[in-house]
Amino acid sequence: MPIHKLLIANRGEIAVRIIRAARTLGIKTVQVHSTADADSLAVEIADEAVEIGPPAASKSYLDVDAILDAARKKDADAVHPGYGFLAENADFADAVEAAGMAFIGPRGETIRRMGDKAAARKAAKEAGVPTVPGSEGLLAGAAAARQVADEIGYPVMIKATAGGGGRGIRIAQNGDELDQLAPQAASEASAAFGDGGLYLEKVIERARHIEVQILGDGKNVIHCFERECSLQRRRQKVWEEAPSPALNEDTREALCTSAVRLASSVGYRGAGTIEYLYDDATGEFYFIEMNTRIQVEHPVTEEITGTDLVAEMIRIAGGAPLSIRQGDLAIDGHAIEVRINAEDPSNNFMPFPGLVSDFRFPGGPGVRFDHMLYPGYQIPPFYDSLLGKLIVKGNSREDAIARLKSALSEFRIDGLKTTAPLFMALASDEQVQASAFHTGWLEPWLEENSARLAQNQGGIAA
Ligand code: ADP
Ligand code: ADP
Ligand code: MG
Repeated sequence: MPIHKLLIANRGEIAVRIIRAARTLGIKTVQVHSTADADSLAVEIADEAVEIGPPAASKSYLDVDAILDAARKKDADAVHPGYGFLAENADFADAVEAAGMAFIGPRGETIRRMGDKAAARKAAKEAGVPTVPGSEGLLAGAAAARQVADEIGYPVMIKATAGGGGRGIRIAQNGDELDQLAPQAASEASAAFGDGGLYLEKVIERARHIEVQILGDGKNVIHCFERECSLQRRRQKVWEEAPSPALNEDTREALCTSAVRLASSVGYRGAGTIEYLYDDATGEFYFIEMNTRIQVEHPVTEEITGTDLVAEMIRIAGGAPLSIRQGDLAIDGHAIEVRINAEDPSNNFMPFPGLVSDFRFPGGPGVRFDHMLYPGYQIPPFYDSLLGKLIVKGNSREDAIARLKSALSEFRIDGLKTTAPLFMALASDEQVQASAFHTGWLEPWLEENSARLAQNQGGIAA
């Protein structure tokens, strides 16, 4: 059934992004918010707003009953979960549908299968998609873990099956470390994710993170090519681009086809991302996980394919078939996204919430800024520090980097420290320009360049 009124169960820049997509489809929007977000941009621009609880996410953005009550009260017929919060919570997806509303994402059973990282590895193997060597399913205990690690070889990664956002991962260099870290990891995972399940993977050294965007309508699945997200800090992406500068056409085809095969094997509905590690020395790629939701970095794909992924996921949830055919998609140019966080890159990325007294945002051809800011906005300290995403597009990667530098030279936010200076330094770095990086590249670079990052906060009104 076509959707008339959509409730956004999220906040920040992604809430703004979803409201915009709904509006272009003629759909009314209801923005739920905590008391800390009463004056947010999303609340301001949505058609209606409902307060659902206090600042703590556990009592607002994670409160399923409060969100469903708001949806009923406002007669919403659909819920978009954004990313983070309840986006990969299968019980939430089921509860939304049980309440007679459309969940803008996969069915609960698909989230259970693909959102659980150990279960998804199994699904990938069954679909003939290569996975990182590691345990079959969850670890049964310390002895079993030692046995798997001895077989695959150290170092190994201990991963929480319910982990995400770079959290719930540890590296063990040897058996003693494994014995020591695994119980810690299990108790941390049950505290953080409500699930202590762990699995093991071999550490793939100097790999690149490459992921494939897919879209499904429950019958057909297509891919919208890949993104590369190898520039990471603490296993979180800071700079993402599309297409990957590391792939040739054959590898791209193999990677994208394997992602479609895996998503098709579960009758995937909605937008999703299949993440891989790619070893450019051997040309091998390995599935690591699937994100059964829209991702932070989706705009780079939109820019090179001319699609609106958020609008497409809303249409699909309203019962429409995919409006895009695989054969209509081609890669046009190159796009880069950098995450503008309220953090001080010269001080160990310390969060820097505060008052946005003024700003000057860049514009012009090939420049897009998806954000949550307005002058006078007081950034609440309770949530993650992403303020917005600066996205640039050019005909080539070189053009995109030139546009990124130009855009950053105009970019100014007064009152806060942000990660913007990091990106000017990265865009000027020869190795970044040559895309000679891997997932372990950025952290040592940050150590070496911390002094440079202390300069150049440009717009700080101290
Ligand atoms: P992306 O691949 O879209 O960058 P991330 O993995 O960085 O996604 O996560 C996006 C957001 O969702 C971040 O705010 C992250 O902290 C949050 N997130 C992702 N997975 C989980 C999880 N299992 N538990 C809590 N938060 C999560
Ligand atoms: P999350 O659910 O937190 O996003 P992922 O499994 O996607 O966790 O891994 C996050 C990041 O950790 C990857 O992008 C990569 O940098 C690193 N990583 C994950 N698995 C491995 C591995 N087996 N070997 C080397 N690095 C890995
Ligand atoms: Mg991941």
